[in-house]
Amino acid sequence: MSATRKAGGRTRPSAPRPAVAAGRRAMLEVNKAHWPVTVLGPGRRIGVWVQGCSIHCKGCVSQDTWPRDPGKRIPVADLVAWCRDVSRGTADGITISGGEPFDQPAALDAFLTGLAAWRREQKLDFDILCYSGYPLRRLQKEHARLLARLDAVIPEPYVDRLPPARLWRGSANQTLVPLSARGRERYAPYVDRPAGGAKRMQAAVDGGRVWMIGIPDRGDMARVEALCAERGLTLTEVSWRR
Ligand code: SF4
Repeated sequence: MSATRKAGGRTRPSAPRPAVAAGRRAMLEVNKAHWPVTVLGPGRRIGVWVQGCSIHCKGCVSQDTWPRDPGKRIPVADLVAWCRDVSRGTADGITISGGEPFDQPAALDAFLTGLAAWRREQKLDFDILCYSGYPLRRLQKEHARLLARLDAVIPEPYVDRLPPARLWRGSANQTLVPLSARGRERYAPYVDRPAGGAKRMQAAVDGGRVWMIGIPDRGDMARVEALCAERGLTLTEVSWRR
């Protein structure tokens, strides 16, 4: 499952754009990107899902993002330019997910550097939220430089037996950790906010593909599949099974 080009949204950075100074040569493996995303952080956001995850949590609904794929490498400069062009300065934030963003630390560093330069030069105020399946302690130990460039992080692996309890998190062990002054101001109200009642999923259609964006509750994807089957629609290549 993922995102795309219809339903008022725009997906997939493609056409080369003038390079930004940061990340001129860096390449990030990207599964998809979408604008606007409204279910993974506050406001209208740019969503970027990286390709490749070495963690392989049991029950992960994004198994299409697991394999690394050099064919999905995108110049970081082009990705930053796409973010800039698609949102036209109106994004409240950027959410980076996957896949495991911290499995590509150098490219992630270049991407965050490019985003920070864009924000600074255009005097924008979007926040940067990143998901990771690694424990917070490991991120603090091995990736302090990357954490310093984020406004908030949602760390810890997905645990299938711990149903989601709080907003934007897939299992009850996952926390929301503000990391900057902007992050503390913006995310403090959401750190302990329950998941219930809020909009959880977004759908977008791209040709024969349907992308689901957001945090499904336990069994949601099986229910979607069953409802489609009742209507004579068989889903193939679903991302929650391999
Ligand atoms: S939930 Fe996230 S960290 Fe875990 S396997 Fe899926 S993509 Fe990787």
